[in-house]
Amino acid sequence: MSQHPETIALHHGWRADPTSGSVAVPIHQTTSYQFNDTDHASNLFALSELGNIYTRIMNPTNDALEQRVAALEGGVASLALASGQAASAFALQNLAKTGDNVVSSTDLYGGTWNLFANTLKDQGIEVRFVDPADPEAFRNAVDDRTRAFYAETLPNPKLHVFPIAEVAAIGSEYGIPLIMDNTACPILCKPLEHGAAIVVYSATKYIGGHGTSIGGLIVDGGNFPWGEHKDRQPALNTPDPSYHGAVWVEATAPLGPVAYIIKARTTLLRDLGSAMSPFNAFLFLQGLETLPLRIHRHCENASRVADWLSGRDEVTRVIHPGKQDGKTRARADKYLSGGYGGLVGFELSGGREAGRKFIDSLELLYHVANIGDARSLAIHPASTTHSQLTPEEQEQTGVTDGYVRLSVGIEHVDDIIADIEQALNKAG
Ligand code: PLP
Repeated sequence: MSQHPETIALHHGWRADPTSGSVAVPIHQTTSYQFNDTDHASNLFALSELGNIYTRIMNPTNDALEQRVAALEGGVASLALASGQAASAFALQNLAKTGDNVVSSTDLYGGTWNLFANTLKDQGIEVRFVDPADPEAFRNAVDDRTRAFYAETLPNPKLHVFPIAEVAAIGSEYGIPLIMDNTACPILCKPLEHGAAIVVYSATKYIGGHGTSIGGLIVDGGNFPWGEHKDRQPALNTPDPSYHGAVWVEATAPLGPVAYIIKARTTLLRDLGSAMSPFNAFLFLQGLETLPLRIHRHCENASRVADWLSGRDEVTRVIHPGKQDGKTRARADKYLSGGYGGLVGFELSGGREAGRKFIDSLELLYHVANIGDARSLAIHPASTTHSQLTPEEQEQTGVTDGYVRLSVGIEHVDDIIADIEQALNKAG
């Protein structure tokens, strides 16, 4: 198998349909799959034979996407879900239950923050937030009930790259896996290569790139020794009453190191039902085919925009990994290869009013809450995504009154810069 993302993204997990010869992965728009006979059916339900049962749990179109994303990450298997939110929730719920805790970076997407601080808390799972600038903060928050570490590789708005290897190494001392949300930098970073155990994506962003579909994925690295940490990881090492008392590490051993992802599929997805529709899986496959090409254009354009913004008088600060220095820059250079991603932040000296005026004056860039679209996007967080936060909380997350976030697309860079320029001129 090729190790090159350009080739994997086009070929892995599918060749052609065995009956029709279809080269494109067909949309298997079916709820169910006919069993050969009753033995076949009971073997599938008992997991003694792998195969399709019901589309809530598996589907051949989703399977092609899952295999392709797992291969791109260097993982052993993956699970497609209805959204990135479902992927983040499942990633933790698969290991932690009432009374357990997880240590997470503070630098998170707002939706993930809400999920961790409120919904998981209501479910009895405590998320302990620590500043990722110091990896030792993760160690200091560990206790006997800590089941996982969680972080984003390239969190916005700060765009400080997370110290993956450092925190993964701390986790491995305790039998704690590191789960990385790599949504903002697919291809550029492969967290599993740096010691992470699980990778989470909102496919809604760069993987799709077309801005048509919501979806998420969890990739199992197959590199975490769950069975060596029986006390630390009870979810995978003690009998699961929801599956005839199966001990996941043992029950899945004949299939390879896939205990984590099989449990997520056969229990959480079965019970909570956040399945990706086959149609969306098909659309994500279309996006994925060109992701290795697109992501580099995003990076090139974003770097050009960051450079250009640095030369403007009304711009007091440009936030972009390529503009950082010291330890932060060293981490960006260590963990991102081939570019610094497509996100750029900047601060306007005119504060909140200038930020709003800038957004309202854009003609080419879209004013949306999304990132990772092939089109260029912009938002003023202080008056939108972060408006419910107190000024202190806004400051902690890196959002100031004059802060504008750009998700730089793949249009011709001159057109992107021309639009930013005319909007800056109007914002004053
Ligand atoms: N993770 C990150 C880094 C995100 O930016 C988002 C969405 O903005 C999510 C997760 C959630 O993904 P979704 O919107 O697909 O549920």
